[in-house]
Parts: sequence; C-alpha cells; structure tokens
Amino acid sequence: MISTSDVQNIRFNDSDPRQPRSVNLYFDHYKGEPVYRTVVYLANSGCEWSRKTGGCTMCGTKNSASQKAISDDEFFAQLDIVRQYVNKFNASLKSPVKTLHIYNDGFFFNDAEISQKVREVIYDLARSLKMEKLVVETNGLDIIRDNKTNDYLGKAVKLLGDTEFEITLGIESTNPLVRALYSKPDSVEDVKNSMETIRRKGAISKGYVLVKGPLLTEAEAYEDCVNTIRTLQQWSNGKRFRVEFQPVCLLPNTLHEYLMTLDHKDPYYWEPPLLSTLFRILHNFPTMGEDLYSALFAKTDEDSPWEFWQARPHDDRETTYKIYLKLVDYYLYRKFDSIESAFKLFNEELWKERKARVAPHSIEERVGVVKKLITLSRKRNLNLSDYLKTHLRIDGNFIDSCLKHIAQVSPE
Ligand code: SF4
Repeated sequence: MISTSDVQNIRFNDSDPRQPRSVNLYFDHYKGEPVYRTVVYLANSGCEWSRKTGGCTMCGTKNSASQKAISDDEFFAQLDIVRQYVNKFNASLKSPVKTLHIYNDGFFFNDAEISQKVREVIYDLARSLKMEKLVVETNGLDIIRDNKTNDYLGKAVKLLGDTEFEITLGIESTNPLVRALYSKPDSVEDVKNSMETIRRKGAISKGYVLVKGPLLTEAEAYEDCVNTIRTLQQWSNGKRFRVEFQPVCLLPNTLHEYLMTLDHKDPYYWEPPLLSTLFRILHNFPTMGEDLYSALFAKTDEDSPWEFWQARPHDDRETTYKIYLKLVDYYLYRKFDSIESAFKLFNEELWKERKARVAPHSIEERVGVVKKLITLSRKRNLNLSDYLKTHLRIDGNFIDSCLKHIAQVSPE
C-alpha cells in the first residue's frame, strides 16, 4: 500500500559538490499500480545551453548550477549518499522504491556535464538497488549528438539489462514558435528524431510538455499543450511514448518571474495556469492512462504544486484543495474517473474569464521581441530577467514597451 504521507524531502548543503542537492521519496504509477519512486537532484554545473546563452526563458536550473565542473569523485560521493537514503527509505516502507530518477539539470549524455564513468556508476546503482526503472533527463541535441558519436544511450540500455531506461526530453511544445518563445536549443526535427532514436535503442521515450510558459495566454497554453500531445501521438505512430506535462513553476531569474511584476491588467502579466486547465488537458486523452500525467508530488511536500496552488488559489481555497486531491488521485491510480469527477467541481466562470483574455500581438511578434531582448541581454552579459529589470521602462503593455525600447537601443 502506497501512502502519500510517506513523502520525504531530504535536502543537503547546496554549496558542497560532494552532496546531492536533494533526495526525495515520492509516489508514482508504474505498470498499473501506485509505487514509490526516489527523485534525486544532483549537484551539477548546469546545462551547456544555459552556460552558453543564459538558457531557456522559463528555466531556473541556472540558479542552482555550481560555478565549477563537478569531478567524478564528487559525483561518486553524491551517489553514495543516494544509495544510503534509498536503503533507508526501503527499510521503513512496506513496499520498496521501484523507480529511480537521477537528474543533473542538463544533458545526461554530455561528457562536459557528467562523465561516462559516472553514468556507469548510476546504472550500477539502479541495478544493485533493484530498480525497475531508471529515469534521466536530457534534450534532443544531446541524443542527436550521442547517436552520431559515442552511442552512450545504446551502451546504457545494454548495461541496465532488465532495468528499464526512460529518457525524458525537455520538449515543452512541438510548435516552433512556442519553442522560440521559450528559446529552446533544439529544433522540432531534433525532437522528433531523438524520440525515434530513443525507442530504436530500446529505451522509453518521454517528453516534458510545458503548460503556460511566459507570454502565452491561458487559451493559447491549453491549445498548445493538447496539440503537442497529439503531435507526439502522431509521430509515435502507435509506438509507446510518455508525457509529463508541467505547469510552469515560479522560479527566480526567468522571464515569467519578470512578467509577474507587471500590472495585472497588462495582457502579458503572467500567472500560473488554472488547476482545472490541467484536467481539461488530461480529458482530451482518455486512453493514455499511465503514460500521461501532470507533475505532482504530495501535499506534504514543501516543493509540491499544492504549495504553488495554495499560494495562488484561483477559486476558493476549499474548492482548489478538492480539485488538487482529484489530481493526487489521478496521479496514484491513473483512472479516467478522477478526471471526469473533477469537472463537477470547477468554476466555469473562471475558465471563461481566463479564456477570454487575448494577447494583442501575434506569437510571431512576441517571438521577434524575445529574440531581440535575448541578444541585448547577452551583449551586457545579463540574464534576460535582470536585463528587463534594469533596462526596460514600462510604457503601455509589455510587448509595446519592449518594441519602443528595442527601437531606442538598436534602431535598425
Ligand atoms: S530547459 Fe533544459 S535546455 Fe533549457 S536551459 Fe533548462 S536545462 Fe538547459
């Protein structure tokens, strides 16, 4: 029996490269039943894209990246701690942890971020802890490059044997314009090819799909998320694919962090998607079951989306909480009934009001502005959000203000 009250978040010293940032005990759904999973955030030196360009506009991994590379010995020390904690969890649980998620906030197969020796220790860890599945994160660029060079992915599948290997790609959207708003490093073609490569090499292909990144309205975000999942379905052509869709979290040094400081009447003011929007997305895919879910932990988790929704209830607090529990129920059992019954709780007026909000500029115009702002912020060696905080004067709505600013500083 899995209990959500078993959730644990063990945090370590962020400044010590010999300690992971955190080791967490969460729950999940695997092969038709609720299970425990351990999610590890390793201390890391950040993703290549983030180091070179400041990263994707909605990504906050740069905030926790170490300024220097993490050595193999330091990673080994972190992984020893992970082993101790998984053993400790298992000693107190009625059912052992079945899946291990090891995240290095970057490109898992990139030697500049994590070496093959360390990867092999991770595979050994998963096998010796009798994990049924190991989950890592990366990006299309990494898979394409690995396929042409080292084939670390193919080697990993062999080394892992019976332990499934799930590769999670930060897809976010399959719409090139939305991806450009987020400043993703890989092309839509890269994403499509990497999903195929992952499957061909015997691993499980999963994509993160983002719900309501910066500069999208609620209606656009809903439509983009549903279209993205449909596109992934088409690309997969009957083969298995998994989707974890994620409402964007408020993180420092991101574009949406800046957009939250705008006047609430500004059409580009950012606020999280409605909790009910997540159900509306799920409702479009009645047959995906275990392979479609929204990122969710438990109400006892201080990082949990419940804290996120609680701080910004879209409805009265009690209703928000009831809807949230339906999401927990769906997360544990993946029964479509939990989605359908949640619909009875929604405040339709809120959804209508959010859906009615429109952005006065086309997505193409918004993309053009984001690209120019990124160039300007890079010239000054600033994060995009810091650039906006220090250089932009709001005069009208956000995009119009940016257009005026761009015309003043780079009038071509
Ligand atoms: S979303 Fe992924 S690729 Fe983009 S900056 Fe963050 S870690 Fe790097």
